[in-house]
Amino acid sequence: MNNAALPTPILPTRTDARAVLRAEWLALFAAWKQPVWRVDQVLQWLYQQRVEQWDQMTNLPLALRRQLAETHTLRNLQQAACQGSRDTTQKFLWRLADDALVESVLIPANPALYGDASDRHTLCVSTQVGCAYGCKFCASGLEGFRRNLTADEIVEQVLAIERQPKAAGEAPLADSRVIQNLVIMGMGEPLANYDHLMRALRILNAPWGGGIGARKITLSTSGLVPQIRRLADEPEQFRLAISLHGATDEVRDRIMPVNRKYPLAELTRACEYYRDKKGRMLTLEYILIAGVNDHLDNATALAGLGRRLQAKINLIPYNRVEGLAWDRPSETAQEKFLGVLERHQVPAFLRREKGHDIDAACGQLRLRTERELRTQPGTVGSGAS
Ligand code: SAH
Ligand code: SF4
Repeated sequence: MNNAALPTPILPTRTDARAVLRAEWLALFAAWKQPVWRVDQVLQWLYQQRVEQWDQMTNLPLALRRQLAETHTLRNLQQAACQGSRDTTQKFLWRLADDALVESVLIPANPALYGDASDRHTLCVSTQVGCAYGCKFCASGLEGFRRNLTADEIVEQVLAIERQPKAAGEAPLADSRVIQNLVIMGMGEPLANYDHLMRALRILNAPWGGGIGARKITLSTSGLVPQIRRLADEPEQFRLAISLHGATDEVRDRIMPVNRKYPLAELTRACEYYRDKKGRMLTLEYILIAGVNDHLDNATALAGLGRRLQAKINLIPYNRVEGLAWDRPSETAQEKFLGVLERHQVPAFLRREKGHDIDAACGQLRLRTERELRTQPGTVGSGAS
């Protein structure tokens, strides 16, 4: 038999190191006859030093580094573009190994209005390339769904930002933590990528990993009922935000196709289940869209739902999306809508900042970049700040 007749060996796809839990490292290192403290060295390199290559793990024996490199990848996100300044909201566009693009948005805890450096940040991360749920107002859904992100691609969004010297306004210290809060509100429907997301969140939450407290992590969903119930049964106290945007089936059916599968009555029952299991950890997000959901009757219905769920309500004036006809109501109309919620004594918050380009919702930078790429290949990154 000559060599040409041999079947091509199928190499197992290697797991990325940032998708591995400590317990899994321990099992692997035990099988390799490596002591436990070697695992902690690897974890320190990955999550404290945030190294990008195995060779940077200088206190590991060369043979072990080689073994790790043969069995695991270290896929680093490549920055394709960046918008905004270090002390205000900053948007990062990442290129993944298969050339797909996703976004993360870094938001200072106290928007530094007068140019003061802010060292406490919230990071908004993406969980999918595109989104299959097709909400009528959203840039992420416009180009359809491409794929789920893997756990390491979610974790790397945090590590890549913490590696950035400019994120904190100075060179990062080895043990500095730039990100205190995480919101899973970027591109994609997080609960449609449940297993990868939970693995990533466990790594980001662990003291040996990202060290971000569970109560500082908020997941946002358009209303996937079975997964909301599943999340309620998990041990972690993650916060949950529901993208409601309509307090009646009539409004939600019109703008969010997911409502036909999981209508409001079912969604409300799942939210009650979450609230009962976790305590008051629910937020209802409500984008104000002129002429669609901003009538004062809509506010009364929303107040009723808010009271029933003992939820906090976030009103967000709609950010315009290129190619869509929707717009936000006037400031007076926004305040009137808020007034109705306040009269019903529902805790409500209206985002009053002006609609800066950079504040625009996730999905828009990617959409613009992909459209530019289609017309002028090679332009991505040229506009990076
Ligand atoms: N798929 C999840 C999480 C990502 S979207 C979800 O829908 O909850 C994050 C939030 O941004 C959602 O509340 C979404 O409705 C909102 N959003 C989408 N497009 C927007 C826009 N143009 N202006 C303001 N908020 C928008
Ligand atoms: Fe998807 Fe959320 Fe956008 Fe709806 S709002 S299309 S679920 S990303």
